[in-house]
Amino acid sequence: MGSLVLVLFWLFGELGFVETFVAITTFAGLSTFYYLTVSTTLNASSMPSAVRVAHPTDAVAASADVMLQHLPIPVMLIGPGGRIEMANPAAREFLGLGALEGHLSSVLRQPRVIEAVGAALQGEKVQPVEYATLAPVESHVRAIIAPIQPTGDSVPHWRAMLVLADETSIKRADRMRADFLANASHELRTPLTSLAGFIETLRGHAKDDPEARERFLAIMFDQTERMSRLINDLLSLSRIEMDEHVPPIGDVDLTVLAGEVIALLGPQTADKKIVLSLEAPEPARVVGDRDQLMEVLQNLIENAIKYAPVDSGVLVRIEPAQSRDQVERPAPILGDDAGRLTLAAPKSGPGERYIAVRVRDSGPGIKRRDLLRLSERFYRVSGQKSGASEGTGLGLAIVKHIVNRHRGGLTVESVPGGGSVFSVFFPTVTKAGVEADRP
Ligand code: ADP
Repeated sequence: MGSLVLVLFWLFGELGFVETFVAITTFAGLSTFYYLTVSTTLNASSMPSAVRVAHPTDAVAASADVMLQHLPIPVMLIGPGGRIEMANPAAREFLGLGALEGHLSSVLRQPRVIEAVGAALQGEKVQPVEYATLAPVESHVRAIIAPIQPTGDSVPHWRAMLVLADETSIKRADRMRADFLANASHELRTPLTSLAGFIETLRGHAKDDPEARERFLAIMFDQTERMSRLINDLLSLSRIEMDEHVPPIGDVDLTVLAGEVIALLGPQTADKKIVLSLEAPEPARVVGDRDQLMEVLQNLIENAIKYAPVDSGVLVRIEPAQSRDQVERPAPILGDDAGRLTLAAPKSGPGERYIAVRVRDSGPGIKRRDLLRLSERFYRVSGQKSGASEGTGLGLAIVKHIVNRHRGGLTVESVPGGGSVFSVFFPTVTKAGVEADRP
């Protein structure tokens, strides 16, 4: 009967297919559970025991009960007056229920859910109810309620099935997607608006002013460059996200790679009169994807060049293989007052060794409170000057994703006014040429 109600819900579009399926499965479990426990105890005299023992569905019923107990979705059976007659372990954990069950209204302070359960206890069909809680943590729940009329009752009472589907991660992913789209469009719209403005000016009063035209064209060129940097970073981010779950298999020498990146950045260092030095005492072989590791080093070294003052030095230091603790928490490089934070860290097994690359500059540094948000997409520390080419705020997000894919780590140490050290570390190639923490 309950299953029929649910199928009707589905047919009339009030429940999705998955919800209906989950609800029917749990309902089947509930009904059999109810049949085997509550109804048989209440009506033991009216139920010939031979029927229960010999019933061909007993084994199925027992399995359904076990399924219900293991179902990771909170399911409850609410009896007359709102009394909780059954709650599976997931429901007990979700609502913090003790051994004694009590009344639904005393454990779930959601008037709309209580009201809907009340209606279901009168045999009414009810719509799912969505609610959100902010404390202790933000969560979004969809309560699916269905009236149930058990057949074994001598005085039939409606009961209500209550399923609490936790939709927090779905809502969070939706919000992140929406925020990301809003941010990406905003970032692209700014240079576009400026381009449109300059085109308008060039067609209007600057039409016959060659000097102004040259100046405006130079600004327009910078804006198009910025847009293409943004699009490249966005594409790079989506490519990396796509294969983040596939561990890399290459064997890369970070010392060689860092040398290549430094050569590539020659023109940028020359422009700012920056002395870029590499300290790499030995070959440093890690398991990785060469192009992605190059992107990591390039992002960190480019940032150091970008934020370092003119006529200063940037040091890239590669350290020989060390334990996780040594690479993640080395002795402070910039002094005891420096803010330190781990932005990404791997799950390490005992004995795993990592090679760290540390990029140190003497730029403006970053305040402690800003460190936490560093690898957020589009985050830029406000009021910071990065020279002619304004950043996209995506570089460190890209670094973090690549580091995660490589089962590596990313840390930062910084002192406002005293420079920064950005470090990444990656698992070393073992003798057999296999990554230590490969499953
Ligand atoms: P961007 O393209 O803006 O540099 P990133 O994601 O690489 O984007 O960096 C995010 C923000 O972190 C930067 O906008 C800057 O405010 C800060 N930042 C990154 N690297 C440094 C550094 N070496 N020194 C000071 N601030 C930095």
